[in-house]
Amino acid sequence: MSARQDELLEQYRDNLLGVFGDPSLVLVSGEGVHVTDANGKRYMDLLAGIAVNALGHAHPAWVRAVSEQAGSLAHISNLFTSPGSIALAHKLLDVTGAPEGSHVFFANSGSEANEAAFKLARRHGAAHPDSQGRPRQRVIALEHSFHGRTMGALALTAKEAYRAPFEPLPAGVEHVPATVEALEAALDDTVSAVIVEPVQGEAGVLGLPEGFLARARELTREHGALLVVDEVQSGIGRTGAWLASSAQLPAGEFPDAVTFAKGLGGGFPVGALLTAGPEVSGLLSAGQHGTTFGGNPLAMAAGLATLTVIEDEDVLANARRVGEHLAQGLRAVGGVAGVRQYGLLLGVDLVQEGPEDPVAQRVVAAARDAGFILNATGPATLRLAPPLIITERDVDEFVAALPRLLAAREH
Ligand SMILES: *Cc1c(COP(=O)(O)O)cnc(C)c1O
Repeated sequence: MSARQDELLEQYRDNLLGVFGDPSLVLVSGEGVHVTDANGKRYMDLLAGIAVNALGHAHPAWVRAVSEQAGSLAHISNLFTSPGSIALAHKLLDVTGAPEGSHVFFANSGSEANEAAFKLARRHGAAHPDSQGRPRQRVIALEHSFHGRTMGALALTAKEAYRAPFEPLPAGVEHVPATVEALEAALDDTVSAVIVEPVQGEAGVLGLPEGFLARARELTREHGALLVVDEVQSGIGRTGAWLASSAQLPAGEFPDAVTFAKGLGGGFPVGALLTAGPEVSGLLSAGQHGTTFGGNPLAMAAGLATLTVIEDEDVLANARRVGEHLAQGLRAVGGVAGVRQYGLLLGVDLVQEGPEDPVAQRVVAAARDAGFILNATGPATLRLAPPLIITERDVDEFVAALPRLLAAREH
């Protein structure tokens, strides 16, 4: 690492709060699937800002849409609306196949989208009291879940290390194993909502057991609870479909609410809560929720450009095809113990030399030196979530380099 970047990283430590630890790179530009750091070194970005940059960096259509909007009208507050928010809400409802009478609330992040879903659950609980006439206040989430870092989203998140320093968190949330038996045992008429990620990204790209989501749909309906699906990481084409959950639900079935963020703005902060059907859409009334920035014209232009390119350029098919090709390549590499692949969201388990061996961290560092960006979700697990426009040739370059990265023992 040469002088310019070191100097900037020192200034970072002097000026920015240390919650992210020490960033390893100062990035200054990007194009397609590549980014460049402050020293001029180029990297293939196999993480895409953690499943965000769906179209890669500086996609011409995205840049044009955002620039034009910035030059015209960037922000207006929610006392007013703009054609962009109407168009993006309509498009989101359309591509996801949301049922008649569904609606969208725009926020600025995944945590905020889940906060809105949590508030929706509380209103549902009040509107549908239990058999004793008390508001339903229990919310069932899954073990290993990640739903964000704000207090409500954190209450939904399972990881003890994230939660413990900030207790007390909003009450009523229980974390159960992702099994049909656990869900059956947890559900009764005191539950307002069940919230699940169709693929648990932060946990290391863990899919739900076969049939789990379909059964969750049946059970929540039976007990009068909302089924909330967190598609913040898995949605908007990441797994090769607009919704990862649609492949796990019988045809014609839909969750009661879906949250989005990461890929939705293609790199601009946009979050959304989709409420399915008229009844759920009526739970939050005027004045019960809000945001200053959410849905602003600039964010909407970014979201609309992202969804339009994904649709027009058949990006979903690319994500499926290249994702499968990448998984095949990875499975053939010695030192790879297993690959979980959902479109272009991949968890790669590596062989450890001992139970304490942080092989994934070592490979992430070696990859960075070799010009590839990826991350580790655990001591032996890599996560790959590249731009959805990445090509087979691009990923072949990484697969070819991987044996060398795995062999880099010292770091
Ligand atoms: C990233 C993530 C969030 C939180 O989103 P932020 O934009 O960081 O607040 C919530 N849920 C899931 C599944 C995520 O992957």
